[in-house]
Amino acid sequence: AAKDAGRNVYRFYSDDMNRSAQDRRGLEDSLRRALANGEFYLDYQPQIDMHTGGVFGVEALLRWNHPEDGLIPPGRFIPAAEEMGFIRRIGEWVMRAACLQCRAWQESGLPPVRVAVNVSGHQFNQPGFIDMVDRVLEDTGLDPTLLELELTESTLLEGARDTIMTLIDLKVRGIHLAIDDFGTGYSSLSYLKHFPIDRLKIDRSFVRDIVSDLDDRAIVEAIIAMAHSLGLRVLAEGVEREDELELLRERGCDEVQGYYFGRPMSARDVEARLRASSPARGTAPLRLIARAE
Ligand code: C2E
Ligand code: MG
Ligand code: MG
Ligand code: MG
Repeated sequence: AAKDAGRNVYRFYSDDMNRSAQDRRGLEDSLRRALANGEFYLDYQPQIDMHTGGVFGVEALLRWNHPEDGLIPPGRFIPAAEEMGFIRRIGEWVMRAACLQCRAWQESGLPPVRVAVNVSGHQFNQPGFIDMVDRVLEDTGLDPTLLELELTESTLLEGARDTIMTLIDLKVRGIHLAIDDFGTGYSSLSYLKHFPIDRLKIDRSFVRDIVSDLDDRAIVEAIIAMAHSLGLRVLAEGVEREDELELLRERGCDEVQGYYFGRPMSARDVEARLRASSPARGTAPLRLIARAE
């Protein structure tokens, strides 16, 4: 369990910039071993369409099941993996695993569901990125319209000058593009009109206090209004309660994701949920299922 985590955990997984060269090598070795030994896996969190109540997508979230230290959340090792340039290898593994899983859901006759993959800036702003995506799509046979990439504002704005060309290259393949953690990055919004984005994901920090904090509510309303006038869909992250959901619904938010509808779960649990909420089976809409949990 995380509690019994070995001493190394704190050394390796902290944000300490003074991590010694030896510690870095230690972590890199652990990450390599993790890839080779299958210690990584993905959980998936449902994304719900407010209008239909159905699951239109799932976000793939990386988990590391460390043999001694137990389950290590992504926030504890991804920043270090980025720092040491190892995120490309991990990122490719994630992309492949997510696309394979999505293809398998399709093959098993479930209604189409899109898989959203988090892409770090170190991955995206690297010359071979598009080739990697093409390779994975070809190897897995996934319909590119069933893949969404989640990029942060900093990834898009701190990158090389050809960011927009890369985005267009992805768009022409039919891949969907979302901005993750929206609202936490930059004060300039002008990039939104140049980039071929499909969806804004409002950061959880604005959703968390939306019922009690009028400032957060005003920010969320403004994001929704702006997104809609730019022709983008809006998803609210981190919805935990019914009153938050109702408020977001009233304000015209298109989509939601959060513990209220389901924590990140195994692929099997996703499949069970998709079967249960498939309209063809005439069962209860997802909201009712979520509440019954
Ligand atoms: P994110 O992409 O913004 O993902 C959403 C995070 O919020 C997830 O944490 C999810 O479990 C959590 N969450 C979802 N709904 C709720 C809620 O209702 N309440 C609360 N309190 N939390 C909620 P997680 O899985 O720990 O991931 C953290 C971050 O790690 C992600 O933030 C993402 O930035 C990064 N990450 C995860 N998987 C990957 C990956 O495969 N590649 C890269 N580059 N980054 C990843
Ligand atoms: Mg995300
Ligand atoms: Mg986010
Ligand atoms: Mg995040």
